[in-house]
Amino acid sequence: MFVSVIIANSTREYDIFYDYIVPGNLEALVQPGVRVLVPFGTGRRLREAFVMEVKQESEYKELKQISQVIDEIPVLTPDLITLSRYMKKRYVCTYDLAIRCMLPSGLALLYSDEAVVNAGTFENLTPEEKKIFDIIADHGGRLKIDKLREIIQMPVEKLLNGLENKGAVKIVNSFQFKANAKTVKVAYPAVESDVFQELVRDNSIKSQNYIRIMEILYDEGAVAVNELNMLGFSNTVLKNMENKGYISFIEEPVERNPVGELDVVVTEPKTPTSEQKKALDVIREKIESGAFHEILLHGITGSGKTEVYMQVIADILKKGKNAIMLVPEIGLTPQMVSQLMGRFKDNIAVIHSRLSMGERYDQWKKIRNGEVRVVVGARSAIFAPLPDIGIIIIDEEHESSYKSDRTPKYDARTIAAARCKIHNAVLLYGSATPSVENYWRARTGKITLVEMKERTNKNPLPQIIPVDMREEMDRGARNELSSVLIRELRKNKEAGEQAILFINRRGYSNFILCRKCGFIAMCPYCSVSLTWHRPENRLVCHYCSYSSVLPGNCPICKSDKLQPFGLGTQKVEEVVSSTEPGFSVIRMDFDTTAGKRGHQAVLETFRKQKIDVMVGTQMVAKGHDFPDVTLVGILSADSLLGSGDFRAGERTFQLITQAAGRAGRAGKHGRVVLQAYNLEDYSIQAAIRQDYHEFFSHEIKLRYELKLPPFYQFGLILVTGKDKEKVQKLAERIHIDITRKPELNHGVLISAPAPSPVSKIKGSYRWRILLKHQSIKRLGSILEWVNDSYNKKGYKDCTVSVDINPANMV
Ligand SMILES: [Zn+2]
Ligand SMILES: [Zn+2]
Repeated sequence: MFVSVIIANSTREYDIFYDYIVPGNLEALVQPGVRVLVPFGTGRRLREAFVMEVKQESEYKELKQISQVIDEIPVLTPDLITLSRYMKKRYVCTYDLAIRCMLPSGLALLYSDEAVVNAGTFENLTPEEKKIFDIIADHGGRLKIDKLREIIQMPVEKLLNGLENKGAVKIVNSFQFKANAKTVKVAYPAVESDVFQELVRDNSIKSQNYIRIMEILYDEGAVAVNELNMLGFSNTVLKNMENKGYISFIEEPVERNPVGELDVVVTEPKTPTSEQKKALDVIREKIESGAFHEILLHGITGSGKTEVYMQVIADILKKGKNAIMLVPEIGLTPQMVSQLMGRFKDNIAVIHSRLSMGERYDQWKKIRNGEVRVVVGARSAIFAPLPDIGIIIIDEEHESSYKSDRTPKYDARTIAAARCKIHNAVLLYGSATPSVENYWRARTGKITLVEMKERTNKNPLPQIIPVDMREEMDRGARNELSSVLIRELRKNKEAGEQAILFINRRGYSNFILCRKCGFIAMCPYCSVSLTWHRPENRLVCHYCSYSSVLPGNCPICKSDKLQPFGLGTQKVEEVVSSTEPGFSVIRMDFDTTAGKRGHQAVLETFRKQKIDVMVGTQMVAKGHDFPDVTLVGILSADSLLGSGDFRAGERTFQLITQAAGRAGRAGKHGRVVLQAYNLEDYSIQAAIRQDYHEFFSHEIKLRYELKLPPFYQFGLILVTGKDKEKVQKLAERIHIDITRKPELNHGVLISAPAPSPVSKIKGSYRWRILLKHQSIKRLGSILEWVNDSYNKKGYKDCTVSVDINPANMV
C-alpha cells in the first residue's frame, strides 16, 4: 500500500505530492485525511504530513516508508481534501496554507524530542561530547533536547549527531497535540501599574500595543498567551515585552470554559408569516431538488430572517443532513447565536472568535466526532469538518469580514459555494443590504432571489431626518451635534428611552494640525496621520499602534497652534457629556472592548443601567436588539465617501441602513438623525428613502461604466519591503515582465506600478500593480506565475503577495 502526502509547513517549491510506502503494520490505520510522520530530506526530525490519497501502486521507485500515524480519525474530511486542491488554484497558495486554514491550531504538534543514553562505555568521545553525555546521564539517562540546550546554553545538534553516530546516545522523537497540553502559557504583569503609567507618561513607551496589553493584564491579572494572540497581539510583541521586563510568563494548568457566556433563549418554531412562508417554500423546493443551488434572501431589518434560517436548518436535520451557518462575528451577533443555541440545544457547536485554543479544539473535535450537526461561527467555521452538508447559510453576506486578510486571502462565500457544490447542497445568503455582486447575480437569474419587505411586528421602518451640516455650521453650530439631534436627544431622555450615536472613527480627532505652519503629526513608520486619543493624551497610529505624547508646541515652528481636527468616538462622548451634563454616556469601540468579555460587558452596562446615550463605531451597528433604543444619530454619514475605494458608496448605504435598523425594534417607533456634509450623494439619498433598489440601479450603472466588479474582477500584486528603491524597482520589473507575456496578459487591463494609497505601513514600503479582467481564471494564471517567479532566491529583500478582489483597496 502507498500514500501520496503533502509535507506540512513546506514552501511553494516542495508543495507537491510525495509518495511513501505504508508498512504492513500501519495499513489498517492509514486513510485519506490522517496525518503521518515521514522521513524527509536530511533532517533528523520526522516531518508531519497529510495523507491526500491512498493507493495500491506508485510510479516511483525507491520510496521511503512512513514512520508513524498521528490521527485515529482523519482530520480532513474527503471534501476538505478536494477543497484544498481548489484553494491552491483559486487563491494561488500552497496546499499546506490551504489546509492550515481548515484545522484548529490546537491540532498542531508540540515536539519534545529526547536524548537517551545507551548502555555501555564509550572511549572515543570528544571532551564536549563527553560533557553532554554526562549531563544526560545525570538526568536519569533521558533528557529533553530543549532542556539540554537550556542547560549548556549553546547549539547541541552537531554534538548529538556525533554522539548518535558513535552509538552513545539515541534520539527519540516524541510529540503531543498543542491543545492536549496539560498547561497553558499565561502572561502577567511584571511591573506595578504606577511604574508602567509613569513610563507611558514620559514617553519611554511608544507602542500602543504595549499599553493595550498592559491594560488588559492589569484588568484581568493574567491572560493566556493564545488569547492575546487572538486579540491580534503577536508573539514577537509579547517576547519583546518580556525582554524589557514588563511582563512574565508562567505555565498554568489548563481550564476549559464552554461557550457558557451567552444567555440561551429557548423558542419554539413560530408560525411563519406569509412572506416567511413564501421564502421557506422556495428554499425547500431547492433543497428537495438535491442539486447545488444558490439563493439570496433579501429581507429588510426586522423581517424575520432568523426564524427562516432556523426552520430550514430543522428541515435539513430531519433529512439526516447537516448545516453550517456563518455570521460576521459571534461577539457582535449574540442574540442570533443564543436563539440558535436555544433551538438546537446540544446539537450545535459554536466557533467563537474569542475562544481559547483549547476551547476551539474541543468544539472542532465535537464536530469531527459527529456529536453535533449544526455549526455556527465566523469566517473560519466554513471549514468545519462536518460530513453530509445539506445547507450553508451566510447571514449578513455583504460583510467584508468574510474575506480573509491573511494569506491565502480566501473568501468564505466562495469557499461555501465550492463546498456546497461538492455536497449538492443549498447555499443561502441573507442580507438587508445585499452585496452588489450577489444582487446582480440574482437579478440576472444566476441565483434565486427571495425578498421579504415587511417587518414581522408590522412596525414601520424608522423615520429618517436628514441634516445638512453645512447649513448647521453656517448657522453657527458650535460642534458636531446638530440642533435637530440635540432636540431629539432631549426628547428621548424625557421619555426615558435610549439613544445610539454612530461615528465611524475611534479616538478623539482625525489628525493634529498646526494652524500656523501647516504641520500634520504623522506616524514615523506609516504614511498616515496620527489620531489623538484624549484619555491617555497620546497620538496613536491605527495601522501599527505606534504612539507618542501630544507635544505642547509645534515641533516645526514652535508655536502653540496645534489643534485637533475631525471627529472620533472620544470627542463625541465628550461633546455629549459637556453639552448635556445630565446625560449618562458610554462608549463602545475597539479601545473599550478589549478582553474576553469586552463587547458583552459594554452592551450589558448600556442595557441594564439604562445609560442614556451610547457612542460607538460601526461595531454597534451589527445585529443587536436594543428594546429601549428609539433614536439613532449618524454623525458624518458621508465620511466613507471620497476614500477612493470603489465600494465606498455600497458601504455608506449599508452602514446607514444597518444603523437605522437599531432604532425602534420592540414596538416603539424609531427616529434616525442623519448628519452629513454631502447629503446629495446617491448612496445617502437612497439610504434616506431606505430604498435598496434605487441604490442598486445607480450603483450597478457606475460599476459597468467604470469596469468594476461584478463586470470586471480585480487582481492585486503588492510588493513590500524596507528598501524604498528596491520595492519600486521590483514592482517595475514585474510590470515589464507581465506586459511582455502576451500569452498571459491577453485582454487584461494592467495599471502602471504605483505606490499604494497607504504607501508605507510599519516601516515597509508598498507598491502595487492592479489587474482587471472579466474572468478570475485569467487573473489567477498571471498571479500564479508572479508568485512562482518572484518569491524565491534573488528577491529576498522584497515580499510579493497577490490577492483576487481584495476587500479594501488601500
Ligand atoms: Zn507649526
Ligand atoms: Zn504607524
